[in-house]
Amino acid sequence: MGIPVKLSVELVPSTSHGANLRSVITSQEWKQVSAWCAHEANHVCQVCGGKSKGRNLDCHEKWHYDEETGTQTLIGLVGLCVSCHLVKHFGYAQVSGKEEFALFHLCKINKWNTYQARDYLEHCFKRFQRRSKIKWKLDCTFMEDVPVSISQESCKKLGIEYVQRPAYQVKAKKVGKF
Ligand SMILES: [Zn+2]
Repeated sequence: MGIPVKLSVELVPSTSHGANLRSVITSQEWKQVSAWCAHEANHVCQVCGGKSKGRNLDCHEKWHYDEETGTQTLIGLVGLCVSCHLVKHFGYAQVSGKEEFALFHLCKINKWNTYQARDYLEHCFKRFQRRSKIKWKLDCTFMEDVPVSISQESCKKLGIEYVQRPAYQVKAKKVGKF
């Protein structure tokens, strides 16, 4: 699978479920991080260029998994429309009855037929199973460069240096016509 995929599936290993940024920081902090992320993305999905109808973009945590060292490193926060975000978490799409739609969107964005998509998914799920045998250590140092105020306590939980920053000003998003 050396070919770059426009819309990739990023299954979070079962051994690190719950150990994500969203659950470590407070909901207020997460709101600010999401707002910053949507602003950075100019309120346009960073994969398909679409807009989320009447709502803010989802903030997707992009992780790199080093299977040698067992380190799961946060490498980015990506503003995604709800459809692309659903594809990223294909396992969730399956358990929430949205698999058919997720498969449709995966095919549409990558210009694949169902067979190509199924092959790709098989590869993703094999990798997921392999990675789910590893107990991951989180590296969230990426957050040190995000201009959002994170409390001392949350920084400690994330294992990052605490820097005092003004609260990120969340601006209300103008919802245009779709
Ligand atoms: Zn999208």
